[in-house]
Amino acid sequence: MGFMQDLAAAAAGAIPAFFVPPIVMLPYILAEQLRPARERPQWRDYAFNIVLSAFAIYLTLPAGILAGMASEAVRSLLPWHPIAIPFDAMATAGLPGMVARVAALTFLPLLVHELWFYWSHRLEHRIGVLWEFHKLHHSDTRMNCSTFARDHFLQNAWRAFFSVFTVGLVFDLSAIEAGQAAIFSGLFLMFLSLFYHSAIRVEVPWLDRIVMTPQLHRIHHSVDPQDFDHNFADVFPFMDMLFGTYRKPQPGQFAATGLPDGELAGRSLWQALVQPIAGAFRRLRGAR
Ligand SMILES: [Zn+2]
Ligand SMILES: [Zn+2]
Repeated sequence: MGFMQDLAAAAAGAIPAFFVPPIVMLPYILAEQLRPARERPQWRDYAFNIVLSAFAIYLTLPAGILAGMASEAVRSLLPWHPIAIPFDAMATAGLPGMVARVAALTFLPLLVHELWFYWSHRLEHRIGVLWEFHKLHHSDTRMNCSTFARDHFLQNAWRAFFSVFTVGLVFDLSAIEAGQAAIFSGLFLMFLSLFYHSAIRVEVPWLDRIVMTPQLHRIHHSVDPQDFDHNFADVFPFMDMLFGTYRKPQPGQFAATGLPDGELAGRSLWQALVQPIAGAFRRLRGAR
């Protein structure tokens, strides 16, 4: 299939994605309202992020499809063979095999994603032009589960491109396996990201070293200068531990969130979508 057919099919398939986030968010919203980490999130906080996510879903699709095509084209030129994993054999090995297969299709892509995500995320904090886009995500002063979708569509597109592009270069997946891997790992990532962005006052110290948790990620969104440039990982904090950016939460620590200098970014939809592009242009002009 060509790019346009892929795009049309993917766009039609993504229509339910508009309804999924508000529905899966309900238990998180309920928990946030009952046991808020700090100030209780308001309905307009949720609504704004959900509307923003609709733009991101549709504009990220072309990037994902192009990445898949680019990855396939580059594969034949690779000096190495992508790692083959016997998924078919697993499927016939009974229940333990099936569980192992689903786990492998969920977590192997996420490991590749994390290697890429950690560094792209650090760059977004370091390079002014990229920060103009990522700033929108950090500007939520009442961070809540819906903040997981508060991303500028161009930032989403560049993140999606490299995650999809690299998985196919590392693992030898059939088209069906690649599709399942995208669904399984995407679902896991969505539920985890909803959880770790949520404003639920919950402490799980034993989990803080295994996967991202609300307390760990709140440190990343914190307005306290001591917390700046910590906990960049998306799923597995091992990258932060490895590269010295891990910061373990103190008991009872639930920092205030927002932009470091109290700046307000993207308060209206227009501002949220256009301001980052204008800001990036300003920086590019200033750099010359
Ligand atoms: Zn960040
Ligand atoms: Zn975040």
